[in-house]
Amino acid sequence: MFHLSPRHDDIELVYPFWVLRERSRVTLIDTGFSALVAERRGISEYRDPTALLAELGIVPGDVERIVLSHLHYDHFGAPERYPNARFIVQRDDVAFFSGAGRLQPAGALADAPSIAALDDLRRAERLETLDGDKSLGDGLSVVRIGGHTPGSQVIVLERSDGPLVFACDGSHFYDNVLTKTPSAIIYRYDEYQRGFSAIERLATGGRWFPGHDPAMLQQLDRVQERVYALRDA
Ligand SMILES: [Zn+2]
Ligand SMILES: [Zn+2]
Repeated sequence: MFHLSPRHDDIELVYPFWVLRERSRVTLIDTGFSALVAERRGISEYRDPTALLAELGIVPGDVERIVLSHLHYDHFGAPERYPNARFIVQRDDVAFFSGAGRLQPAGALADAPSIAALDDLRRAERLETLDGDKSLGDGLSVVRIGGHTPGSQVIVLERSDGPLVFACDGSHFYDNVLTKTPSAIIYRYDEYQRGFSAIERLATGGRWFPGHDPAMLQQLDRVQERVYALRDA
């Protein structure tokens, strides 16, 4: 989790996906992953995303759009669960994970069946591929940072109390940004570093969430087992 770090102590990770509700409109940031993938990848204390959504009174068919931070298996999985969703992702990630990346060790960090399903989504006109930053409406925007994967993007939600930045794997832990140390999963080191600066610049109120740091739970209100709510500033 910390490139070139001499630390080898055990660390705990959380694997969040985020739900944004604007009136009846449901947007997800990332999808979570299936039980099969969790088992294969040795992830314990797993709960199924569909069951978690049900805790909020949401069925997967309600989800209108899904903003994918990048295409690693823990952020993009089982897209067939969301029959009405439009998936929004950077073109560079689609090109890499469905192309050259498949032959590289880094490509194994994507879930092959989910990557294969991108073709079906494209045919159904439910795949929106971006070439950089974009405003998505409702105060939501994406900023392409790359670094971790070719098309990694962070998601910014402008609220009346200031911006919330979902850094996702632009910074796995708070300490990656704070120490300017990327994780060991690096596509481009210089972009990773610029991404850290972008996260700091975008989170003007200092409110941002890393990809996997359990410390983020302290910035959230616990609603139920494994379900947390965003807090007002
Ligand atoms: Zn990742
Ligand atoms: Zn991740």
